[in-house]
Amino acid sequence: MIETILVATDGSDHADKALDLAGLLAAQLGAKVVLVHVMSPGPVPESLRRMAEVEHLAERAPAGYEQPLASTVRGGDPRHAEYENFRVHEAIGNQLLDVAERGLRKKGVKSISRRLEDGEPAEAILDAAAGAGVDMIVLGSRGLGSLKKLLVGSVSSKVCQLARCTCVSVK
Ligand code: ATP
Ligand code: MG
Repeated sequence: MIETILVATDGSDHADKALDLAGLLAAQLGAKVVLVHVMSPGPVPESLRRMAEVEHLAERAPAGYEQPLASTVRGGDPRHAEYENFRVHEAIGNQLLDVAERGLRKKGVKSISRRLEDGEPAEAILDAAAGAGVDMIVLGSRGLGSLKKLLVGSVSSKVCQLARCTCVSVK
């Protein structure tokens, strides 16, 4: 019996396909969905940074971090830049989860819980799966990585190898 399905998204086209399949299955089976995004550490890519500026994230930073995002990330105080990087990753992660959750609700999924994690993506996905006691993991076979020579990405392959439940890697 499949009662809970974990679906992992990094915002890629393959992750969208995984969301489609997970949504379809969950709606049909009346299963709960655990939606997971793992924030990647390090500097925010330029494209995401621009998106964050458009969203005026800096305006929402707490007291003590009032400098505009653009000036802090681009050559400003590194402590602020690091903090802003985290804030940008967090905001982007929440946005990804918002979009994914809306899509799942549209498909008729009733029970959705969201997890925004950080750390090594495969480990974080496996921990979330074990913690929630899910019966199935659905993810894309590929993601945002640029190494297109391999047919299956490292997160997909590690999660499916180590998962204790059924794992579906969507092509
Ligand atoms: P690699 O990262 O090894 O260069 P890739 O990016 O092409 O390769 P994966 O990272 O394995 O491929 O991505 C496969 C799937 O794993 C994605 O479609 C998504 O479902 C899931 N995934 C990958 N990274 C994350 C993440 N940070 N958070 C949530 N899910 C992720
Ligand atoms: Mg990847």
